[in-house]
This record gives sequence, structure tokens and C-alpha cells, in this order.
Amino acid sequence: SLSIGIVGLPNVGKSTLFNALTKNTALAANYPFATIEPNVGIVAVPDPRLDELAKLYDSAKIVHATMQFVDIAGIVKGASEGQGLGNQFLANIRETDAICQVIRVFEDSDVTHVDGDVAPPRDIETINTELILADLQTLEKALPRLEKEARTTKDRDKLAVVEAARAAQKTLNDGVTLYASDLDPAPLRELHLLTAKPFLYVFNVDEDELGDEALRARLQELVAPAEAIFLDAKIESELIELPDEEALELLQSTGQEEPGLLQLVRVGFATLGLQTFLTAGPKEARAWTIRKGASAPEAAGVIHTDFQKGFIKAEIVSYEDLVAEGSVAAARAAGKARMEGKEYVMQDGDVVEFRFNV
Ligand code: GDP
Repeated sequence: SLSIGIVGLPNVGKSTLFNALTKNTALAANYPFATIEPNVGIVAVPDPRLDELAKLYDSAKIVHATMQFVDIAGIVKGASEGQGLGNQFLANIRETDAICQVIRVFEDSDVTHVDGDVAPPRDIETINTELILADLQTLEKALPRLEKEARTTKDRDKLAVVEAARAAQKTLNDGVTLYASDLDPAPLRELHLLTAKPFLYVFNVDEDELGDEALRARLQELVAPAEAIFLDAKIESELIELPDEEALELLQSTGQEEPGLLQLVRVGFATLGLQTFLTAGPKEARAWTIRKGASAPEAAGVIHTDFQKGFIKAEIVSYEDLVAEGSVAAARAAGKARMEGKEYVMQDGDVVEFRFNV
């Protein structure tokens, strides 16, 4: 499954956040391989629709979509030159599909800041600079080879790659990440550039700052177009230890409607470019992961390759219509069930039954 790397300076709350994600019983998917690597956690994507479907179908179990979070050791200034865990850090981050930057906003004199004081804009800049420098190194190393390939083959695609590489160099030299630029990432995909991955930000704020809208707006503006989540990692780690009722009280006392962890998983899933479709029956109510824009046959293929190969059509009811009508049969009678063919682009929350040849 796709993964999000949790990245940030030391002492910003990365491990606190990661541990809360993987210990949260609502999120921690119970996979035997979840513990193989201590810094990789498999997390269930919360989806209240599954509970409703399970009730409707009297399903024996619920299966959530999952995603991975990877706790990546602290980046420091100079990482791209091998400082700290420099190269290891970059290799780990290269393997992830999106980058979640944790930025410290909380003040705590007991927790030292590597660069002396708490300054979110500077820290965002520090991390982005290291990622940008790493990408510039990658490009510098790759360009002679790419140019030679283009020269010897005169292949149009290869020429386009060289042009894209030069444009990327220019953008990065201006201090702009590729994610935030409008360059097409496709031609440079094979280089696995770090700043071309989708970004998302977690601002680890003090409890009393959780409701500070002006602060939120200011921080969000710093990182646009990336999404930002505001949470207090310490509160999050307390919430997961509490019985439900007490957790709810604590949550309400901080003025939040839901734990920041849930928001993080939901936004993270979308940042990875993913969505889910649903299936339900007596055996299970289940969310299946597909990329946004996936066609009906691709979705069928996630369940079984034979479903994709033999795809005929899909009977689709939106989750809302299904719940409103009470059953697929009632939805059919009300004209809310649709037969869709090979070209159909799946929508989040489609409840699906595939028809296929075996
Ligand atoms: P990492 O180095 O980024 O992984 O940071 P840790 O998660 O290990 O946290 C470093 C220290 O900061 C620990 O002592 C945490 O208890 C503390 N910490 C983490 N999040 C918060 C927070 O939201 N508020 C406060 N006051 N302390 C925090």
C-alpha cells in the first residue's frame, strides 16, 4: 500500500504523533506484518459508512482501507550534505509516496529546539531547503546521462525529459519545491525527486492554540497549496489512552470536534491521490482502495484480477442513496441503481457489485 513519510526537525513531536497513530485502536490495523519494522505503521482509514453498511447487511465483519505511515529519522540542516543521518534520511524519504512535514509551534522550555527557538517559517524553510538541495544533486548527477541519451537516440521523449530536468533545476534554484510549482512531474518520474511528491503539513500547536483561527490562517498560507492539519500531539497521545467517555470530554475541552489523528489519516489518504469504493454483504462490509480517477474495471481488479479481465459491468448505488432507500433492491426500484460499463470513472463512496465472465 502507499505510504506517507513523517518528516521534521528533531523534537517537533514526530514520534509522539507516529506512536499515537499506531497505538490508536480505532486506527491501528491489526496486521501481523505491522510490527516487522518499528518505524512503519499500517493505519486503518476511518470510515463511519462501513458501520452503517454492516448494520444494513448484517455483515460479520468490517474491513477498512489502510495506508502506511513511516517515521523518518530527524532531518537537520545540512542533511543533503550528509549531516546527521543525511543520506539514510533521503533514501528513506525517497521510498515514500507523500511527505508529511511536522512543524513545531508548541512552546515548551523542557524540550529543546535544534535551532534555538520556535519559528515555524524558518523550520519550513530549513526542511524545504534540504529537500531542494537533494533534488538539485539528483538532477545534476542525472543530467549528463539524460543529455547523452537524448543526443544519441534523438528520441522526442528523451529530449522532453532533458528539458523538464532543466526547468526543474531552475525552479529549485529559485527556492521553489516542484510540488508547489506548476511543472508537470510526469517526465521526471524515474528520478523520484523528493520535492515532486505531494506534501502535507502537521502543525503541532499548544492546546490553547487549537482554536486560534488567525494563527491557523497564517500558517496555512505559508504552506499553500499543501493542506495543513493543526493538532496537539501530546493531547493526541493522551486521547488514545483514555476510555471513550473521558476522551470525548478531553476532546470537547480543547474545542475540537474530532481527534487530529483522524483528520491526518483522512487528509493523508486524499493527499496520496486515493479514494475508496465500498462493497457489502453478509460476509463483510469493506472499503477498497483505488486512485482517484480509476475506471470501473480497474476497481474490479483491486478485488481480483479475474474481475478485471472478465469485466462486463458494474451495478452502482451511491452510499447516500443506498442508506436512504434501505437496500439495493429498494434503490433499484427507485431508479437509484445504475449499470455502468468499462468507461465509468469511480466516485468515492460508490457501493458496487461487479458483473464479470469467469
Ligand atoms: P521527534 O524528535 O520529532 O520525534 O519528537 P518527539 O515526539 O520525540 O517529542 C520530543 C519531545 O517533545 C518529547 O518530550 C515530547 O513529549 C514532547 N512533545 C511532543 N509533542 C508535544 C506537544 O504537542 N506539546 C508539548 N508540550 N510537548 C510535546
